[in-house]
Amino acid sequence: DDDPNSTKVTADMVDALAVKHFPACQYNLWNRLKRDHHLKHFARLQFGLFLKALGLPLEEALVYWRRGFSQLTDDKFNKEYKYNIRHSYGQEGKRMNYPAKSCQQILTANQPGPTDSHGCPYRHFAPETLQTFLSQHYSINTGSLEMREVMDQVKKQHYHLACTRVFEITHPKDVKKGEGLGEGVSVSHPNEYFNKSWGYER
Ligand code: SF4
Repeated sequence: DDDPNSTKVTADMVDALAVKHFPACQYNLWNRLKRDHHLKHFARLQFGLFLKALGLPLEEALVYWRRGFSQLTDDKFNKEYKYNIRHSYGQEGKRMNYPAKSCQQILTANQPGPTDSHGCPYRHFAPETLQTFLSQHYSINTGSLEMREVMDQVKKQHYHLACTRVFEITHPKDVKKGEGLGEGVSVSHPNEYFNKSWGYER
């Protein structure tokens, strides 16, 4: 079955999927939520719509976010966050079906400030912070040829190509250098990165 969206994703599955299949932007948000038990508005939007698009249904999203915001009382969670989660699933307000944000939108809209966690790490992290992040979470060693290739793309401001190279490096059994996500396609949407990565595993 190669359509990941045909599988029902549960709150319990998110951690394992994050470690194996999330691109840097969403891995970072997942990690920050775990660490801080909180995400700010644009981060919640970027991550929440990504989780919706990968197939996490509303009832499981409420379970996931409730656990993530573990330091809030039920009352505060229900008052301040539940509505927004339901809203992003089109269950409140204008009942819009909001799509997940593309790389283009993440790279160019709502530039993150120093205390924000949304955005694209390839663009918005300082180079040293990005290298530490990539070595810790994607096992790409600082000083390796692979790291140099990624950082060269960053320097050229080809952020999505840096992300594509990381996909190739971390999926050596599935794609060769230059093949991108497969058949030469480069990353243009975090959910495309996720779907390809999970698809290869299955
Ligand atoms: Fe996310 Fe796109 Fe940046 Fe990759 S290039 S980290 S998918 S925003």
